Amino acid sequence: MSDIAAGLEAVRDRVRMAAEAAGRDPDGIALLAVSKGQPLEAVRAAIAAGQSDFGENYLQDAGPKLDALDADETLSWHYIGLIQSNKTRRIAARFDWVHTVDRSRIVERLAAQRPPLAPPLNVCLQLRSDDDPRAAGAQRSELPALAAAVAAAPSLRLRGLMTVPPPDPDPEAARPHFRALREAGAELEALGLAIDTYSMGMTADLEVAVSEGATLLRVGTAIFGPRSQQPDR
Ligand SMILES: *Cc1c(COP(=O)(O)O)cnc(C)c1O
Repeated sequence: MSDIAAGLEAVRDRVRMAAEAAGRDPDGIALLAVSKGQPLEAVRAAIAAGQSDFGENYLQDAGPKLDALDADETLSWHYIGLIQSNKTRRIAARFDWVHTVDRSRIVERLAAQRPPLAPPLNVCLQLRSDDDPRAAGAQRSELPALAAAVAAAPSLRLRGLMTVPPPDPDPEAARPHFRALREAGAELEALGLAIDTYSMGMTADLEVAVSEGATLLRVGTAIFGPRSQQPDR
């Protein structure tokens, strides 16, 4: 078994155990393999081990992998990086999901630029999780209007919310941020905006995320090992 197959299996075991501890069905928790900074061969190894959803942060780093695997319709590509407005056309054209939408200008551009024959682009809104105004993500008070704009666009499909807690050596430090994401989602549901995705939890804190209701984990290092290539923007 390759290291990557072993890494995937270890992560799936962690998810199963965390789900069991939380009294949740592990089938309700999707695993996104974050392949940023990893070569094409690493993605191929993960595919061979049964992985179908991949997350990328940088268009230049993702491009050659997307090109090489373009013919494989069973794969889903998720854009999880910062969105600059001059990059939205390529994101709308190449990806199946985008997790980091945080302002109305980006909603408008993705909606207009999604190719007409493509299925709707799956959208998660990113909630900013600390008080740093320069951090990525929308404030909670901005989410209802953003979610309504996504839900109203025929070329987009509102799926849910995403967050990246501030780095902290203690995985428990992420818990209040995950809980805040669930609360923000419940607020959208109460407004009649249906969502089915909570994109939260990474290598270090996936157990905490599962116990707080994550439905999609974004895991890189625990599957692929350390990122060897320095992804360039
Ligand atoms: C890199 C990255 C991940 C994966 O992080 P790991 O700690 O390697 O699991 C998840 N989400 C986002 C937004 C990332 O940029």
